Amino acid sequence: MQSEIPFIRPRFPPPHELAQDYADVLDANWFTNFGPKERRFADAIGTYLGPNISAATYSNGTLALVAALELSIGHGDRTRYLLMPSFTFVAVAQAALWAGYLPWFVDVDPETWQPSVASARAALEAGRDRIAGLLFANVFGVGSPAIAEWEILAAEYGLPLVIDSAAGFGSEYPSGERVGGRGTCEIFSFHATKPFAIGEGGGLTSRDHSLVENAVRFGNFGFGAGRTSTQLGINGKLQEINAAIGLRQLDELDARIASRRAVFERYRTGLSGTGVVFQPNAAASSLCFASVLCGSVAHKSDVLASMVEHRVQARDYYNPAVHAQPFFTANPQLSRSESLPATVDLCARIVSLPIHDDMPPGDVERVIAAAWGASQ
Ligand SMILES: *Cc1c(COP(=O)(O)O)cnc(C)c1O
Repeated sequence: MQSEIPFIRPRFPPPHELAQDYADVLDANWFTNFGPKERRFADAIGTYLGPNISAATYSNGTLALVAALELSIGHGDRTRYLLMPSFTFVAVAQAALWAGYLPWFVDVDPETWQPSVASARAALEAGRDRIAGLLFANVFGVGSPAIAEWEILAAEYGLPLVIDSAAGFGSEYPSGERVGGRGTCEIFSFHATKPFAIGEGGGLTSRDHSLVENAVRFGNFGFGAGRTSTQLGINGKLQEINAAIGLRQLDELDARIASRRAVFERYRTGLSGTGVVFQPNAAASSLCFASVLCGSVAHKSDVLASMVEHRVQARDYYNPAVHAQPFFTANPQLSRSESLPATVDLCARIVSLPIHDDMPPGDVERVIAAAWGASQ
């Protein structure tokens, strides 16, 4: 029988490279707490993203998001809301709650699958006084074509704009600018399942250097000068060994993204005629996977069944959307929602197909054949 094609196949440095890094860590006698590897990694991330962008690292993306909210908006008392898409990963709403805010879910644009400016505007018109900030997400790490409109909306209402670009390290906005330097700040996840993976890890990036410095302090118990706590903090520090992995992964990133984009292009040509639709600007992203929108709910279930039959692991992110997660349906006092017809429709018709670094052409063709298997 053919082997199963996994949904995610992370690529990590080979053992001999990590052995060298581990030896360095032992030699330096410095395992965490902003050692030489972490300092180089934070610099390298900022440099990779573009001029004048600085970066703070974290032990995961969710803590980077909490830090972003704490430093951009301040700590809330769970009486005010953050506007955010429901069509995203549940960590977005959980981070808001940890920072003391309630989620107010807005719909996505049916064409771009990105948070809808019109839906956010409707919420702002209904409840401006109860909204503390905008928590935008670049859906699937794809740079939103509407990012400038969100910045204009934020300026118009005088609200901070935090951007969750978790899976999108290496993605570009339609202008060609790398994701990471827009809004008040952006955050990334370097989780093992993301295209830029170090195991567990995260980053906060911004053109506002003092915000980044404060965000570093937040992740280090709020320590200011002299190891005394001067602000609210938490332990969110990235370990040296993970930073070392990150430095090695960064060297390979552009080549890996190019190979992921080649797979995506093959899916696009190979699936034309099946009736599936791809997300605008996904081709300029780091492609955590390939999301396709099926023509109907029945077509989606046929595609998923055919994937199982062809031994291809597929998913249907982000279904269920956040507003429909049991925690939020069981605790209606914790969130509010605009009407979400586009979100509900996307969830009902979306399929996520695997993309790996250096995916063997035979695997790519098997995924395409499986998708066709469903439409015949
Ligand atoms: C992965 C992800 C996160 C969480 O990142 P972790 O590093 O797993 O904590 C947050 N938001 C989005 C949109 C994600 O995809």
